[in-house]
Amino acid sequence: MKTLVYGLGESGIAAAKALTARNEKIRAADAGNSEKLRSTLRDLGVEGSVGAGLVVLDGVDRVVASPGIRPADPVLTAAEERGIPVVSEIALGLELLGDVPTVAVTGTNGKTTVVDMIQHVLEASNTPHTVAGNSWRALTGCLEDVAKTGLLILEVSSFQLHYMNKPGFDIAALLNVRPDHLNWHASFDEYAADKLRIFDGQNEKDLALVSAEDPTGKEAAARMLTETITIGGSETAVVEGELLLRGAPLARVEDLQFAGRHNHENALFAAAVAQRLGVSVEDIGAALRSYRLKPHRMEVVADSDGVVFIDDSKATNPAAVAAALGGFERPVVLILGGSEKETDFAEIIPALKYCRAAICQGEAGPRIAHYLRERWDVDKVYVEPDLPSAVAAAWELARRGDAVLLSPGCASFDQFAGYADRGEVFARLASSAGGDAVAR
Ligand code: ADP
Repeated sequence: MKTLVYGLGESGIAAAKALTARNEKIRAADAGNSEKLRSTLRDLGVEGSVGAGLVVLDGVDRVVASPGIRPADPVLTAAEERGIPVVSEIALGLELLGDVPTVAVTGTNGKTTVVDMIQHVLEASNTPHTVAGNSWRALTGCLEDVAKTGLLILEVSSFQLHYMNKPGFDIAALLNVRPDHLNWHASFDEYAADKLRIFDGQNEKDLALVSAEDPTGKEAAARMLTETITIGGSETAVVEGELLLRGAPLARVEDLQFAGRHNHENALFAAAVAQRLGVSVEDIGAALRSYRLKPHRMEVVADSDGVVFIDDSKATNPAAVAAALGGFERPVVLILGGSEKETDFAEIIPALKYCRAAICQGEAGPRIAHYLRERWDVDKVYVEPDLPSAVAAAWELARRGDAVLLSPGCASFDQFAGYADRGEVFARLASSAGGDAVAR
């Protein structure tokens, strides 16, 4: 059996090393041809090529695809045409692991937060586990740790689910499915179908978690044989300011250090997972009360002259922007825009009711501005070329008591190396905005 590891980013490198360590025959390849890729290939010391075409498939029995590669990629389409199986790096990791209890979390928004909350609760209750996948370590890079701890908590993207066959997770959580990454998937239906693969292969002993507010998950749950919990349903929900887990009180909302309905829902997903793993309701409640969100998710980064600046740079699709705006009862100057994914911003229109202004910046700025001017309020929409000029404009427009919210609804690659870089630049700009403070 010879495996082509296709795509030499972090997960491709980990997959190549894991296979080499098991004396499997491999070829490593990438469609790109940069110096960095050439040196990666040299360091791996395996047969391979960068920038080559379909020849990379010759003599190959299967392909491990990196999450950055679209299914429409010529090598992947040719592999499918030739009947060569294509699997994701996570599918390979699960195969190499064998039978280890696994919790998998997917969704358009909230994956990292839910996995981080699960991790926090498990750490607080001294439950050994290993976290991997998507925004965490590559699974094939930490197989020994998983085997040692005996419990895997996995964050899975739709990209990784696309090339996964009946994973049969012990606990599978689908947080929500909203339009995103439609530049990668052929359509919303295909994207939703990929997300639903998280439940494939589950049996009656397993657990499936869906959200009461997510039509895709709810519909799927109605057809499942697995035990299911609907988060936000009657028993596991926020009722009169209290988080309930299967009817048992966990924590009061005012005792938590994170805000927003969506984050309370995330906490309930994490709580349901932790309970299934044997953590008591008391320990889950105590851990949630001490949990703090990771950076760049509704993080207060400056407070200048009565204007609070909030970094939600991780909001890279309109659903995350709508969730962010849902938490405000004070005027917001919203900064939107970034790299262009042609996403539909309809979802944010009802959530704009507290917005004093929307400043649209970056590559997608003019398109979003045009859309908002037609659908919302022509006088409240501004266009700026980039983030620094958008923050300067926001500072001019904001009044004392307002929030300036960076919740871009777009990826960051038009101006930045990633969402974290964008958030850090925003925080610096926000701190210096107060330097020329004017009386408001
Ligand atoms: P992911 O790993 O799925 O990208 P994150 O936890 O990093 O998710 O959060 C991404 C963005 O989505 C943040 O802006 C966050 O505030 C927002 N968000 C988090 N959870 C939810 C949710 N359940 N529904 C909608 N938006 C959410």
